[in-house]
Amino acid sequence: MSDPTKRISELRTLLTRANAAYYQDAAPTMSDSEFDTLLKELAELEALHPELHDSNSPTARVGGDPIEGFETLPHAVPMLSIDNTYNEDELKQWVDRMLKNTGGSESESALFEGSPEIGFACEPKIDGVALSIRYEQGRFIRALTRGDGEQGDDVSHAARTIRSIPLTLEGDSIPDIIEIRGEVYIPLSEFLRINEARIEEGDEPFMNPRNACAGTLKSLDPKAIASRKLGFVAHGRGELSDPEFASGHQEFCDRISAMGFDVGEHRTLETNLKGVLSSIQHIDAIRHDLQYATDGVVIRVDEFAQQDAMGTTSKSPRWCIAYKFPAERKPTRLLRVEHQVGKTGKITPRATLEPVLLAGTTVSHATLHNYGMIRTRDLHEQDLVEVEKAGEIIPQVVGVILDQRPDSATQILPPDHCPACDAPLEIEPIEAHEDPTLETTRRCMNPECPAQIREKLVWFAGRKQMDIDGLGESTIDQIRTTDIPLNHFADIFDLHKHRDALLELERMGEKKVDNLIAGIEDSKSRGMAKLLAGMGIRHVGATTAKLLARRFRDIDELRSAALWELMPTAVNTMSQAKREELTGSKDKLGEVYETGLGADTAPAVHEYLQSRAASDTFDQLKQRGVDLTSKDIVDPSETIESPFAGKTIVITGTLENFTRTQLSDQLEVMGAKVSGSVSGSTDLLIAGEKAGSKRTKAESLGVEIWDEDTLMETLKKS
Ligand SMILES: [Zn+2]
Repeated sequence: MSDPTKRISELRTLLTRANAAYYQDAAPTMSDSEFDTLLKELAELEALHPELHDSNSPTARVGGDPIEGFETLPHAVPMLSIDNTYNEDELKQWVDRMLKNTGGSESESALFEGSPEIGFACEPKIDGVALSIRYEQGRFIRALTRGDGEQGDDVSHAARTIRSIPLTLEGDSIPDIIEIRGEVYIPLSEFLRINEARIEEGDEPFMNPRNACAGTLKSLDPKAIASRKLGFVAHGRGELSDPEFASGHQEFCDRISAMGFDVGEHRTLETNLKGVLSSIQHIDAIRHDLQYATDGVVIRVDEFAQQDAMGTTSKSPRWCIAYKFPAERKPTRLLRVEHQVGKTGKITPRATLEPVLLAGTTVSHATLHNYGMIRTRDLHEQDLVEVEKAGEIIPQVVGVILDQRPDSATQILPPDHCPACDAPLEIEPIEAHEDPTLETTRRCMNPECPAQIREKLVWFAGRKQMDIDGLGESTIDQIRTTDIPLNHFADIFDLHKHRDALLELERMGEKKVDNLIAGIEDSKSRGMAKLLAGMGIRHVGATTAKLLARRFRDIDELRSAALWELMPTAVNTMSQAKREELTGSKDKLGEVYETGLGADTAPAVHEYLQSRAASDTFDQLKQRGVDLTSKDIVDPSETIESPFAGKTIVITGTLENFTRTQLSDQLEVMGAKVSGSVSGSTDLLIAGEKAGSKRTKAESLGVEIWDEDTLMETLKKS
């Protein structure tokens, strides 16, 4: 075996370079799959050699343990905001002021001819979340959000997962201390994907990319953050120990680009107003093709000495201004609001508008998100409203033109009863980290609600779920107008008994009916992941269903799982008492797997699985021959060769080289099951300093006991 220390350092360098090449030069040095293979090799080596741990290793990007909360820390240099203008005249005045301040001529022509004494750096203004990242001796130290400008939240756990933020800086003469400022953004394609997934899981979609980005940064779970592919574009500086590092903005950007940062594209250096205006025009023309949302152009005096001479006001620097593009917004009539019932019973208000052309597409519907938003905006039917494309994507109603409200306008009241079944609606508060304007969600809780049943059946039979050939939306609607029962998933699998009645339906010849029956028969073998994804259980979409199917052999095993077994590894960091409360079974404590359910959603899913309704549904499906077993099961001990594979290990006492969570993660990677308490099935106890009752119990049961030295030796050898 080659020298692991050497290989680890080789892999780290290789991956860091490949990463930089990917984000800077747009000329990748290796393919994505090659990158992933090397990253996996590094992760495995690091797990086997915990003594070589480095929090800035490229593997840190795939996410570590969830953090407990945010620490608020002061900025070394305050993070000011930039003055905005929507107005060309104001921009002209600003350019004029800058020219005069740097000794340019007082005449109007100087404004257009400019002065050799000054340069204006112009670049797209990214609509993201500002971050300040501190490096000492070329190593990533921490990342803070803007906060109130004086102090911000430490989001290092999130920043580490962002691949365009270097963890080690490349090159020579890197300043001892350098703080890089810039914008974190969510790529537009990723924004669409996340919202689609959220809608699928019955969650509120994000309003716009910035909102999604801020929500993601505030997540405590680095793995969840890493999965969202955030990007970072650098454009400024905080503390900088080397005053000679760069003489101006343009040079600064070139230098940090060489150190591994993405500094964005389309930056130009102009000398006069004409140049600034043409740069604005150019950026406006190309901005819809950029992968991030932009809402304007930032213009700054390039030279640092000139910047320093001009200084700042209490809020913002004098040498910098943002020209903002007017949002694409148009007035139109809000004709009516429909209350749609989703497959999980959620009621969503949707506006029907008088069609209007907006950013190149005709808009005739807009989401109103929820009833809180209708109330805060005071919307009425028949109002003249302003519609905007948020983040250039989802049309939404942003305001109402009150002085043009017609007499016929009627207030939009949130329904108290389901528009489909008249059951009283339940009102839920929205999770705290989402947009504060979202106040409440209304939900029909009636399991027999025909609107929900229809949506559920359509979803269940859909392509990505049970993929039932011949059972599309219109066929479902058609059958549901007859006496043929089609109210539960199980009814689908009884449809063959109604062949004669089906043949009598319009447009349903013999061939179509036989196709349908064959399609239904065929779908019975899809397996647990597809079935779970198809049932429209809240919080269980395709991805989560697949993760559950990897962990549990069949529906019975899943249904008999205790609540804590559905929890992510976050549960490892819970107090012993809390875990005991969750499980009720001390013996199985600590056997925690990654299931894909969040600690907040697990209880809801668990409750459903334990419910009478779930039990009936699964029994009925089983009786009809639907396959409830997993086709995706992964046994973590099978594929790994290590002295710990398949062993049940308990860790106790204080360890010198690891926290208990770190060690248990490493042992799990090596195929062990880490448990919280000693029992007859324990294979090995790892006892650190001050091991107490667990050690005594292990001794009495004759369980093998290792001290930390023995453990370290074995880890080094393997
Ligand atoms: Zn209903």
